[in-house]
Amino acid sequence: MSLVVINKIDEIREIIKEYKKQGKSIALVPTMGCLHEGHKSLMEKAHSIADITVISVFVNPIQFCPGEDYDRYPRTLEQDKIVAESAGVDIIFAPSVNEMYPNLQKFSDLTMVVPPYELTDIMCGKSRVGHFDGVETVVTKLFNIVQPDFACFGMKDIQQLFLIKKMVKDLNIPVEIIDCPLVREESGLALSSRNKYLSETEKTDALTISKSLFAIKESFKIGIKYTKKLFDVCLTNLSKNVELEYLEFVDADTFKHTDTINSKTICAIAARVGNVRLIDNIILEV
Ligand code: AMP
Repeated sequence: MSLVVINKIDEIREIIKEYKKQGKSIALVPTMGCLHEGHKSLMEKAHSIADITVISVFVNPIQFCPGEDYDRYPRTLEQDKIVAESAGVDIIFAPSVNEMYPNLQKFSDLTMVVPPYELTDIMCGKSRVGHFDGVETVVTKLFNIVQPDFACFGMKDIQQLFLIKKMVKDLNIPVEIIDCPLVREESGLALSSRNKYLSETEKTDALTISKSLFAIKESFKIGIKYTKKLFDVCLTNLSKNVELEYLEFVDADTFKHTDTINSKTICAIAARVGNVRLIDNIILEV
């Protein structure tokens, strides 16, 4: 089957209905487009586990905070089609903002899906207030529209992945969430659509983000278990041109802070290079 691009909710519902009638399984990969190898790994995973692979390409306005990069976020649908096709995608669902939110000018009117405060008062949820309300709301809408059997999410956005899994469990949404590993450039830099914003010198500075995470992992391996000490390891490795937003250590099972590394601990970072905000994380397995 060749790739089709669908913009309308009613239209994709009809297509999905037909596939379901034929007993075909559906996997969904939600994205904001500007697809790279990280996204591609999710699409390939989806393609390997389901009969039909659907991706959404939608820059979701309600997950951006005021002053963030919603307007300048790269929109590259023509190029995205090529990447999606090469990964075996069957359908790109690329709705307009009006199709997803016909009443967005009256934002207060929208029913939202809101994750628990204690899981969003850390990491990205703390620095991007309301971000995960926007994410969970759009992902719920996409699940209701596409009704996938599987949905693939990247470990690059580790807090998002945790919250989506919890949402699916708490709200009994009948979809299996598939964790997909974080994909990096050979240099170590985590792939991100926002890397496009970086100049060459900024990219060199950005590299110290993953470098500091790798240094933390090495220190941990030789026995340093106190997060305060690991924090210092991070600062030593981070370029002076990188402004640290947070470096947090959380337990992978609970997403609660840990002072010492005792079980599977996630070390997550957000930082600014120039006016580009980047995130990365590493799992310190005992
Ligand atoms: P985005 O388009 O940035 O909203 O990302 C869409 C999906 O791709 C999310 O599940 C992300 O976690 C995932 N993703 C983005 N970058 C990477 C990466 N470098 N490695 C793995 N997954 C990624």
